[in-house]
Amino acid sequence: MRRYGASPLDPMQTVTITASPDHLASYDGQVAALVACNLLGRLSPSVQIGFHDIAIHPRLPWAGRSLTEHALGGMRAVDPFGNYGARPINTGDFRFHLGPDGHDALVHGSGWNAYIGQGPSPLPLITSDVGVGAALSVVLGAAHLFRTRFGAMTVPFVSNAWDWTNAPIVINFSPVGISLGHVMTAGFGSVGSTANYFLALATRDFRASLIDHDKVRVQNITRSPIFTDAHAKIDLVKVNAGATFLREVGVKDVDADPVALHESSLWNLRDSGSIDVLISAANEFNVRYHIEMGFPPIQLYATTGRNWQTTLMRHTPGAKACSLCVFPPDARFAPTTCATDGSSARQTTVEEERTDAALPFLSFAAGLMTAAEVLKLSARRYPLSPERVMLGLKDQPLLIGTPLPHRNGCLCESRHAGVHRSAIAGSRYARLACFEI
Ligand SMILES: [Zn+2]
Repeated sequence: MRRYGASPLDPMQTVTITASPDHLASYDGQVAALVACNLLGRLSPSVQIGFHDIAIHPRLPWAGRSLTEHALGGMRAVDPFGNYGARPINTGDFRFHLGPDGHDALVHGSGWNAYIGQGPSPLPLITSDVGVGAALSVVLGAAHLFRTRFGAMTVPFVSNAWDWTNAPIVINFSPVGISLGHVMTAGFGSVGSTANYFLALATRDFRASLIDHDKVRVQNITRSPIFTDAHAKIDLVKVNAGATFLREVGVKDVDADPVALHESSLWNLRDSGSIDVLISAANEFNVRYHIEMGFPPIQLYATTGRNWQTTLMRHTPGAKACSLCVFPPDARFAPTTCATDGSSARQTTVEEERTDAALPFLSFAAGLMTAAEVLKLSARRYPLSPERVMLGLKDQPLLIGTPLPHRNGCLCESRHAGVHRSAIAGSRYARLACFEI
């Protein structure tokens, strides 16, 4: 974190996670507890579990296991030298409380809604299992804790992950156990791995293809819910860490290709219509050029930015803005450039050079927003929000949705709509395409 210019939390300040018992017994409450332990354990080396142990919910991965043991094992795998344990709250601890009541400051999610602030929670009780609002509330709470250095949650903030607005919404659509089809992830760094983690919390009914050439390094551990200290020690390829995680939680059909997208047979040799959704979370080797020129299915991803914001993007086939409209190709890395001196071999990612890369809650926000969109794809009224949604976490949270404009002169202007339409024909979400011809 210091390497990236951010100052870590005081390691002597213990964070203790507590929870209202009724909330902890629910699916949403357990998602909140798992994500809180995972994220706070990466943000601070001093975290205690202050809630009573309970068996993991039957609809979650690891069902029936001890929640405390599972969560503690995860935290210790991230930082073997951290001070992690389970004990009641002590005087002087910072209390991170999950639930609609039970403490003056709350981190509460129910259904697609998330709330942080003073109790009691204003959220309507949603009884269907959703988990997404609960996970979002934890990300918001962690960002508040980091930004204010353990400050009080005095200003309330409500948001929902359904249409990404600041009002609570009564929606009973549950993504738990839903069938997603074939989800390809191009780029298994912080955002791609986090998106797959959140997908797997909700459902194991999908086929996963993971493409990334990179290895897990020590600076990757804090910003992905999947990578551990042991992965970094053996230089494990990121997609192999991801494939092992997905198989262990019960995703049966997992392919991992440890190469860049343009070299991947999973991408280059795919049959038309065989990929249902593309999580395009890579940003090197001119990847967006290769994606857009390859007639992609619907693309979902989120980027993280310098000002502690994450921006969710959706590119539907036939829509006026493709990803190259937003991120014009860099002439230096254009595929036509002659690269005989080997200089192209070390094209650092944009992410590596940014200070925001050190902020765990930001990559969790980006991965969660991406996963939430994938989980909503089969909802009857999808899409539910503008093509671009920005969540700012530098101050009091800010959520803004805006349409994406077309960029004049973009390569997508020469892309043949008929070819694109036939390339995605038969894919699960092809009905969302908006070709004019
Ligand atoms: Zn374009």
